[in-house]
Amino acid sequence: MTDTTQELIQTELSLGAHNYKPLDVMLTRGEGVYLWDTDGNQYLDCLSAYSAVNQGHCHPKILKAMVEQAGKLTLTSRAFRNDQLALFYEEIAALTGSHKVLPMNSGAEAVESAIKAVRKWGYEVKGVPANQAEVIVARNNFHGRTLMIVGFSTDPVARGGFGPFAPGFKVVEHGDIGAFEAAVTPNTVGFLIEPIQGEAGVIIPPEGYFKRVRELCTEHNITLILDEIQTGLGRTGKLLAEEHEGIEADVTLVGKALSGGFYPVSAVLSNTEVLGVLRPGEHGSTFGGNPLACAVARVALKVLVEEGMVENAAEQGGYFMAGLSDIRSNAVKEIRGRGLMLAVELHPGAGGARRYCQALKERGILCKDTHEHSIRIAPPLVITRTQVDWALERFGTVLTEMG
Ligand SMILES: *Cc1c(COP(=O)(O)O)cnc(C)c1O
Repeated sequence: MTDTTQELIQTELSLGAHNYKPLDVMLTRGEGVYLWDTDGNQYLDCLSAYSAVNQGHCHPKILKAMVEQAGKLTLTSRAFRNDQLALFYEEIAALTGSHKVLPMNSGAEAVESAIKAVRKWGYEVKGVPANQAEVIVARNNFHGRTLMIVGFSTDPVARGGFGPFAPGFKVVEHGDIGAFEAAVTPNTVGFLIEPIQGEAGVIIPPEGYFKRVRELCTEHNITLILDEIQTGLGRTGKLLAEEHEGIEADVTLVGKALSGGFYPVSAVLSNTEVLGVLRPGEHGSTFGGNPLACAVARVALKVLVEEGMVENAAEQGGYFMAGLSDIRSNAVKEIRGRGLMLAVELHPGAGGARRYCQALKERGILCKDTHEHSIRIAPPLVITRTQVDWALERFGTVLTEMG
């Protein structure tokens, strides 16, 4: 590492809030599945900025659209109209089969916005008494970092020291249909859940769970809100992870890859009258739905579909997972995943996932350790078979040598 890089790290440490503990790799350039650090080392990106870069780094078509739009018009606020918003609505609605769209910026904002709308829907449409609305969430959820959201997190690190929290949430076990059913009351307005829990370490619920959730939500007039901010837009080998379950959410949240990593863009997509309850002045965002965001999101969706990234995620994901499962190592407890959303869970005695991520980094692969014992693997969806083979060789070496 050069002296300049060391200095940059020191500056980060002295001036920045220490709310992250990154691997010490100083990245300066990205293209497709690859990243380069300030020393000129090349890495295969196996995190994709938590799935925000599904389309690959600096996708040329997204870049072009962004630069073009940035030279024309970037922000008007929603006080006026802009000529990109309607086109964004049309294209995302057609692609996802949604009836209404609410554009926001970060994922957490999409989650907050959905809960606001669902509560209001509960009072105005479902007839829940004022201020009694309940939203059910799953244990080990991750929906973002704002105060309302960390209030219903079950992670002591995420919520500790940040109270008091907003009331109106109930936590149930993820994947336990009986627990969900038992938590339902006449005041339940929504069930907010990730189809596959990402931050929790790629946790897939039992077969048939979501079918039954869907039935119960319909039966009790509960809005099913699927947080697809990480699982959506091709990551699991389908455009939306709900397709694996053969269900449709009432409200779907997307973000992250909605811009291909260029710009924060998120959206609440709704199939029911939920978003219809919002009237002028009741909700908004200065940047939400701005022309630059819309132009970037439109092309980010377009390349995802046109360039076959969703199908590629299914194909390479299956191949990657089979390859990981073939690695014989005492360190490995389980391989989990769907599409290109993969995790290697290590035995508690293996010494923690972080040192494996360090070793992978030395061999040119950037991965993220999650919850101590899991290595998360989520490369851009443009990864090729040859690149997967290259990665598997290195995973094999690291897992067997260290295991
Ligand atoms: C990343 C993520 C969020 C939060 O998105 P931000 O843009 O970081 O606010 C919410 N839900 C899920 C499932 C996520 O993975």
